[in-house]
Amino acid sequence: WWTNVEMGPPDPILGVSEAFKRDTNPKKMNLGVGAYRDDQGKPYILPTVKKAELAIQGLDKEYLGITGLPAFTNAAAELAFGSGSSVLSAKRNVTVQGISGTGSLRIGANFLDKFFTSNKSIWLPTPSWGNHVPIFNYLHICCWLIMCFESCLLYNNSACFFRHAGLDVQWYRYYKPSTCGFDAEGAMEDLNKIPENSIVLFHACAHNPTGVDPKLENWKEMSQICKNRNLLPYFDMAYQGFASGDINKDAAAMRFFVEEGHNILLAQSFAKNMGLYGSERAGAFTVVCADQEEAARVESQIKILIRPMYSNPPCNGARIASTVLTTPELREQWLVEVKGMADRIISMRQQLVDNLKKDGSSKDWGHIVDQIGMFCYTGLTPDQVSNLTNNFSVYLTKDGRISVAGVSSGNVQYLAHAMHQVTK
Ligand code: PMP
Repeated sequence: WWTNVEMGPPDPILGVSEAFKRDTNPKKMNLGVGAYRDDQGKPYILPTVKKAELAIQGLDKEYLGITGLPAFTNAAAELAFGSGSSVLSAKRNVTVQGISGTGSLRIGANFLDKFFTSNKSIWLPTPSWGNHVPIFNYLHICCWLIMCFESCLLYNNSACFFRHAGLDVQWYRYYKPSTCGFDAEGAMEDLNKIPENSIVLFHACAHNPTGVDPKLENWKEMSQICKNRNLLPYFDMAYQGFASGDINKDAAAMRFFVEEGHNILLAQSFAKNMGLYGSERAGAFTVVCADQEEAARVESQIKILIRPMYSNPPCNGARIASTVLTTPELREQWLVEVKGMADRIISMRQQLVDNLKKDGSSKDWGHIVDQIGMFCYTGLTPDQVSNLTNNFSVYLTKDGRISVAGVSSGNVQYLAHAMHQVTK
């Protein structure tokens, strides 16, 4: 049956991990994958998550509703928009549970594909998280075609499923290689040229892969451009709390847009800020609507989109996250834990720069501390990356991105030395 199936290319990030596993050098470092590690280089289970797991032990395993656990979706929306948010009090938000950030983004992609009647193009920053392209351009993916086909058979609405070509993915300038920082001028120029009534994707904080976030004054300008050109902002917030250590500061840009009257879309992930990477996969997708009546209509359609995809989401991660967020002592402790993770990363950035100087590097590494969040775009060229991997067993993606979460006090000196050797 499958002689026609060609070998696909390996995933660029998981490929790095495979090569790392094969390396026998005891000093090897895996800076490819974006998962938090403690200062001993070990995966970290948040103590509040362990407590929440105990608290929910023994609960039944019944189906959730299509939109997930209400206690979770309410808590996720409150975390994102803030407790005093007028959107929440006016019940203008539709917030549904998704399979972590990716699944939540994907619900949004499907919703846009079916219901966004204006310009069906989504504008991404250059560069963006690699998965954004297939998520929004999804009809190019085989498995989705298979899912559609299945849905067609079941629901006999093939016309509706095959009519769309997915969203057209376009790019606006964002990262400036010469400064390893934000290309404010380029971004504004490009955003100003986006055809009216299009969709723009923003990373709410801790931009992946660059670690470069716009300043508040940049966000203000971008909000104004979105107003002028009537653009629909779609915020991807995968790292709330993980960038600065402060959940409110990390949500400030997105909240500013909402205060300015943008009826945004939002995808949230609890993978990083609660360490729920694999087994739990809790996330949320929100549409901010004009009023409660619009919200009811939108929610009814999102349910219809979710039902044939996975019927209803799993409850365990949602129970953990909502227990942490809604139990006052746990929430308070969680805020400290999130800050602890963010602070460790910030400190590793500083130590990396200090050690590069100590090792004799005279290059300007200021961008390493200016950037924020899990990832750092080092500015290393593909040749320097190969050199780092082949001669020092330091594994990272070809674009020079390192996961700072994989750096610890035990290996930061070695990393600095290796980076100096390949850049001098
Ligand atoms: N968006 C961005 C920008 C990300 O970096 C990630 C995690 N790598 C995600 C979304 C979603 O991740 P997950 O599905 O694991 O929550």
